[in-house]
Amino acid sequence: MVSGDGLLIRVKPFGGRLTAADLRAIAGAAGTFGNGVVELTNRGNLQLRGLTADSAPHAAAALVAAGLADLDADREARRNVIAEPPWNDALVAQVEALLMATPGLPPKFCVAVGATIRRVDRLKEPSRVAEDTMRRLADIPSPAGMAEFLPDHLLIGVPFGQADAAALIRLADLLGDAILRTTALRAFHLPGHHDPAPYAAAGFITEPDDPRRSISACPGAPFCASASVSARADAARLAQRGLRGIHVSGCAKGCAHPRAAPTLVGRDGLYDLVRHGRADDPPNATGLTIEEAAALLEAA
Ligand code: SF4
Repeated sequence: MVSGDGLLIRVKPFGGRLTAADLRAIAGAAGTFGNGVVELTNRGNLQLRGLTADSAPHAAAALVAAGLADLDADREARRNVIAEPPWNDALVAQVEALLMATPGLPPKFCVAVGATIRRVDRLKEPSRVAEDTMRRLADIPSPAGMAEFLPDHLLIGVPFGQADAAALIRLADLLGDAILRTTALRAFHLPGHHDPAPYAAAGFITEPDDPRRSISACPGAPFCASASVSARADAARLAQRGLRGIHVSGCAKGCAHPRAAPTLVGRDGLYDLVRHGRADDPPNATGLTIEEAAALLEAA
């Protein structure tokens, strides 16, 4: 896909599972062929950014060679499965296989799988193939072997959904033989008891009350061509001041949080403030630096 900072490649880990070797392969492709930025999406995918027309095929080949994508681009495009807790690996594998073996599925057809098949995303356009597939999905018996959502685990959050290749390598080094699962929380789930300190030192969020968990921010500049502000860097500054529950949007589109909140909206390199609303609502104050905006939010 084309984005503001070049081409973007989305990695969809099979079964939502990632080993240390997988993380190193993703970090290697991101650092060698992209700009080193890796995003964790709210569908549990990882996005490599800043690729070029020349480098993207090399990155794709490296990811296929590492077993992180199917060689057949059409099969890979149809493999849209969100694995949710409590994970049922056998069921996820069956759903992935069914989607990959079904030519003609609309590109946005996506299935969420937890203990059972939870949800099939609605499609705007009617599609006979999709309706047939939904019937076939409903016929899959729930296999045994469901993984427990273990109460003892560490949730490793990625600040504003964005990490870099070096952080993923540090995470791989800490992981050893363990297997991470992606989640829709822009966080990795690591089963078992673990000291959170090394993960926090590696740049990840491990505390449930970390202010960064409650702030939404889109990629902003330089990652999106519509942005004139560095939304995620500015969101980090708000979090350092202890502000919570804010939405920082690179422009009035409001991609990161399409709901009402105290919202800063980038415009011409400065911010407009919507005290409580969506990014495209009329602002209460305009033309603010991030420090001025933070002061207004603190005073509220
Ligand atoms: S809100 Fe605007 S700047 Fe941010 S990602 Fe969406 S289009 Fe880009």
